[in-house]
Amino acid sequence: MPEKTITLVPVLSEEVLAIGRRLLPEGWTLESVSKADLSAKMPEIEYLLGMEPGWIDDDVMATGKKLKLFQLMNVGYDSFNVEGARKVRVPVSVNGGANAISVAEHAVMFILALIKKLSQLDANVRAGKWRGGAMGSLRVHEVWSQTVGIIGMGRIGQNVAARLRPFEPGEIVYYDPMRPSAEREKQLGVRYLPLDELLKTADIVTLHVPLMPETQDLIDARALKLMKPTAVIVNTSRGGLINENDLAEALTEGTIAGAGIDVFSQEPPPPDHPLFTAPNALLTPHMAGPTWESWPRRFQNCFENIVRVSKGEAPQWVIPELAELVPQPVRR
Ligand code: NAD
Repeated sequence: MPEKTITLVPVLSEEVLAIGRRLLPEGWTLESVSKADLSAKMPEIEYLLGMEPGWIDDDVMATGKKLKLFQLMNVGYDSFNVEGARKVRVPVSVNGGANAISVAEHAVMFILALIKKLSQLDANVRAGKWRGGAMGSLRVHEVWSQTVGIIGMGRIGQNVAARLRPFEPGEIVYYDPMRPSAEREKQLGVRYLPLDELLKTADIVTLHVPLMPETQDLIDARALKLMKPTAVIVNTSRGGLINENDLAEALTEGTIAGAGIDVFSQEPPPPDHPLFTAPNALLTPHMAGPTWESWPRRFQNCFENIVRVSKGEAPQWVIPELAELVPQPVRR
């Protein structure tokens, strides 16, 4: 039987590609096509595997006559040409939660580092200032007894809740327009609150929401003013969810106490980005998802989905905007 081919537009290191080759199902090959060669190669491609290939325009998509699936190795698809995929009627699938653990851990890291003022403590020791004053003059906190507010209770939000529960917070509240079942809420130990109530109540706020026109600037000056001056906010989702100028101002004026930011509206951010000089901002370069341990999970999920489609089954994890392209389960 001739081998089937998965085509990858490489942005990954050779070491990561080796993981993919090792996990490849029997009877399949993994080929790499450069961005420049993609349009010439497109008419032959059946399964396109990509990491944020947001640059595939309508013209290139239209040449994909054999294309059966756009399989993303990542989760956010705000930069992907969804309307182009709709025109050629090819579903787009995300990675099935392969990096939910990674992102949840990164959010927990930010939360602990912010409330325990990690970068300030580190700087004090190096500068010979030790505790920086009398014992207790610098307030560091615990998750214990605090109210945690999770915005977006999807795969990552639920993983964050599960990882924070053992810290015994006072309460975990959440906001999501698509509420999980009452049973799932109970299992996760979370309570629904409208967004403004959550912002007023929480000591720790963490965002796990996709970037869409409705969520652009979800956290702006108005939302930040609702928060407690002692509260911290974490964004490991997408830069556009928080208005960065408003956040820098809120940190400078002490409207809130700190921010952990992994994602920016422009990546990499320009050298004069307002958060670079804002106090109590911890910044990482969109690294919450791509942990070393996430790569096998990503390849496994993506390959499993591609194999399903090759057998004539419906793909999993299709983005909701293109749900119409796959058969829906019959309701009884
Ligand atoms: P998901 O689709 O499982 O969950 C997203 C949740 O957000 C859903 O439950 C949805 O109902 C909810 N939501 C939608 N609109 C909302 C709103 N206005 N307010 C509150 N909730 C809303 O997605 P996920 O796997 O949990 O990922 C969440 C986001 O994390 C992704 O969209 C992606 O942008 C980001 N992400 C970032 C990294 C990184 O490396 N920093 C890695 C993976 C994912």
